[in-house]
Amino acid sequence: MSKNENNIIFDKVAIIGIGLIGSSIAKAIKKRKISNNISGYAKTNKTRQKVRELGYIDYVEDDLVSAVTDADLIILCVPVGSNRQILKEISSSLKKGSILTDVGSVKSEVINQVSDIIPQGVSFIPGHPIAGTEFSGPESGFAELIEDKWCILTPYGDFKRKDLNKVISFWEGIGMLVDIMEPEQHDLVLAITSHIPHLIAYNIVGTATDLEKVTKKEVTKYAAGGFRDFTRIASSDPIMWRDIFLNNKEAVLEMLGRFTEDLADLQKAIRWQDGKRLEELFTKTRKIREGIIKEEKSRYSK
Ligand code: NAP
Repeated sequence: MSKNENNIIFDKVAIIGIGLIGSSIAKAIKKRKISNNISGYAKTNKTRQKVRELGYIDYVEDDLVSAVTDADLIILCVPVGSNRQILKEISSSLKKGSILTDVGSVKSEVINQVSDIIPQGVSFIPGHPIAGTEFSGPESGFAELIEDKWCILTPYGDFKRKDLNKVISFWEGIGMLVDIMEPEQHDLVLAITSHIPHLIAYNIVGTATDLEKVTKKEVTKYAAGGFRDFTRIASSDPIMWRDIFLNNKEAVLEMLGRFTEDLADLQKAIRWQDGKRLEELFTKTRKIREGIIKEEKSRYSK
């Protein structure tokens, strides 16, 4: 057996949704030769045609059922609000013994949406690769996007232990580090580390552009400060982020409540000229940033 054949974990992987994440996974599978074949499907003909031209998926199908037929691993890489409808269309065509996973940024609600339509004999092992950019679409992905990043799996219910191990091997095989978490815990953690930061970015860019005294031109002209960083985040895909907020409502509202309390605290510190309070917080947050950079450096150097 050649070295490449040794890497093979699945004979056929089906990728449903070929945007930033789907295309990054496909390219990583090709780079590391994890599967013999990749099939794929995207909603519009335009995207499917583009993916055919780009060539990183072996079989781009014009219907969902053809894409998943005979697949050993099916990865849903679509906005989280679309999973149920897709699964309804494919559930009777999934191969017995196959594994279904997803990459959605929300876990509890995705599990709620699909758990009653997972066919017998198919293991559902939800996942979330914690990697991204503000870009979307079939041309935006690259294999290195997911390398050395965390992938959180939230297995639940009736899955087979050997299938979980296979999914772990898959994500590790394409270069990720894997962690296991409860879905609710995942949603709370991601609410504060990813969803609230995006909400703040959408809000600050919306507020700044709405301000009557500041023309749009001036906002763009003097955007070099922190505002520019917020506009990058606020340019993320509207459909994907709409679905994240609608489907992680409880965790986002809980974290937003805490955030608002802390913001009011800062407001008070500014009003009362409490420089000590501001300095204390800003010193603490700088240390957190240093800790994150240190952790990333040690991960990349391994
Ligand atoms: P994206 O670049 O916008 O791509 C979405 C893909 O899904 C497109 O190929 C789209 O097809 C397809 N699609 C949408 N609705 C569909 C449907 N009903 N049936 C079949 N295909 C459908 O999005 P993405 O950034 O890759 O995000 C995909 C998933 O990954 C989301 O669940 C998101 O929460 C998760 N995620 C995203 C990031 C990130 O930073 N972007 C990070 C981690 C996880 P068309 O192009 O034909 O419309």
